[in-house]
Amino acid sequence: MTNDDLKQILIDYARRTYDRGLVGGTGGNFSARLTDGSMAITASGLNLGDTSMENLIEMDISTYEYRPKGPYVPSKEYLFHADILRLRPDVGAVLHIHPPYATTFAVLKRDIPMVTDAAFKQPKMPRVSFEPSGTKELQANVVRTINSNPGCKVLLLEQHGIICLGEDIRWAYDIADLTEELARIAYLKETLS
Ligand SMILES: [Zn+2]
Repeated sequence: MTNDDLKQILIDYARRTYDRGLVGGTGGNFSARLTDGSMAITASGLNLGDTSMENLIEMDISTYEYRPKGPYVPSKEYLFHADILRLRPDVGAVLHIHPPYATTFAVLKRDIPMVTDAAFKQPKMPRVSFEPSGTKELQANVVRTINSNPGCKVLLLEQHGIICLGEDIRWAYDIADLTEELARIAYLKETLS
């Protein structure tokens, strides 16, 4: 697969993420590992649904170096995207979003109850202590959580949202969608029981 193929899949799934309602406004960011080991990441201040070849940014995951494309610069969350891809060679894509049900559990500093058969097979979703988005403090908390939870696929960012780690772009999207589905079912279970 070429870098252009990977970028096109990233664009398609970024749009799908927005259309599915997994994030609103200009929130959320999506990255994927490219063939040379660098990453492509969505741009800052842009709706994920508007991701295109013109505004995807390439970045070195060790030095964080990048070339802006006209007015477009990387999402301010590039620090933890690059670090996750560097620390987890099994991960090919990272999707950060604010889906309402999963984020509500994160806001309440509660784990999402693993109530369904599909969830029983999944690794624990560790929580990341709150720090403001885009800061080195949040980056440090994410790195600490990744290092102490090998194999984890979903991180709950307290008072903020979730980060999903996929072996490729499609998996990162599917994990995000399934996590929100699980959180919704857990919410409905608590409401009805
Ligand atoms: Zn966010």
